[in-house]
Amino acid sequence: MSEKKLKFNSKTIHGGQKPDLAYGAVIPPIYQTSTYAQTTPGGHKGYAYSRSANPTRTALEQSLASIENGNYGLAFASGLAAIDAVIKLLNPGDEVLSTNDLYGGSYRLFKQIFEKYGIKFQFVDMQNANQLEKCINDSTKLIWVETPTNPMMNIIDIKAIVHLAKRHHLLVAVDNTFATPYLQLPLDLGVDIVMHSATKYLGGHSDVVVGALIINDSKLADQLYFIQNASGAVCGPMDSFLTLRGIKTLHVRMQRHCENGKAIATYLANHPKIEKVYWPGFEDHPNHEVAKRQMNDFGGMISFIPKGSSFEDAIKIIEKLKIFTLAESLGGVESLAGHPASMTHASIPKEERKKIGVLDSLIRLSVGIEDEADLIADLEQAIG
Ligand SMILES: *Cc1c(COP(=O)(O)O)cnc(C)c1O
Repeated sequence: MSEKKLKFNSKTIHGGQKPDLAYGAVIPPIYQTSTYAQTTPGGHKGYAYSRSANPTRTALEQSLASIENGNYGLAFASGLAAIDAVIKLLNPGDEVLSTNDLYGGSYRLFKQIFEKYGIKFQFVDMQNANQLEKCINDSTKLIWVETPTNPMMNIIDIKAIVHLAKRHHLLVAVDNTFATPYLQLPLDLGVDIVMHSATKYLGGHSDVVVGALIINDSKLADQLYFIQNASGAVCGPMDSFLTLRGIKTLHVRMQRHCENGKAIATYLANHPKIEKVYWPGFEDHPNHEVAKRQMNDFGGMISFIPKGSSFEDAIKIIEKLKIFTLAESLGGVESLAGHPASMTHASIPKEERKKIGVLDSLIRLSVGIEDEADLIADLEQAIG
């Protein structure tokens, strides 16, 4: 059966994976090597130097392509290294339209590194694609989309963005870290590049830092491969192995993340001491209809604001949590709690944070796959 025809739940396990050529190992070995013996100059088996290619990384890259319904995958040393490669497609003077409510590290990379090299960024609310059109000019080359947004859980209509981009001949890249291909497949919606921090749900066990790009167009894939090799921020063999191992259970983990996420979002929404809960599964979420159309479920990422609360009240709740660990990151099997204003989004200026709703009292949860009752009991004792 052609591998492209496999269902998602099989692709996570078999996608792009063949028994190893040397001994038939079912699991791709960790090729912990920098270089490869050649019989004559250039006489090698497709691998000459591990920055350019490594068999364990190849196995991961093929798996990534398979689960995202793409033709090509590239694995990087981190999610930010993957974003860095995408922006290096551009030239000084080019402009990027980016989601305004996005990962703090992406914002920092755009503003503090790439603006120095003459690339311009506009941060826009993309919930209304028509508003976006006003921001396009002759220099615009790329639309950078994050959905669900981080940490406000807004949903951006990928199809509407692609429609607009096609009319103006712009590239569209989607950071699919929060959703994962279990929830949405941006390439199927016409996007050019899918990006992942595989550090999060794809790896899934909080034990690696890895990034990914998935592409359909061969010319664009060649350009990005050229940048990956020329700049050199590649994913190492051990991290490739761990990420592949994580991907094999992505579908079962995501199912539980979604179930627990729904239970906890509902619990918080009904709690008298909670002011507001941000989760796209609620019918009164402003983009619920888009979420229903675009996603298979609503995920396990939730943000909330305790009632009448100040910075101190939010911190008190966070510090009382026992099962939810206070930590950066998300998407692992264990539940984490974070305080965006002082942690993930601290590199965004306070006025900018306020504009998008990232108040000092906002708490973000990455709901893990522990028992639902234990997680709710933990929140109950912390909120009081
Ligand atoms: C973590 C994260 C990144 C950055 O990835 P790293 O692997 O930490 O470099 C980018 N986008 C989103 C949405 C993230 O959560």
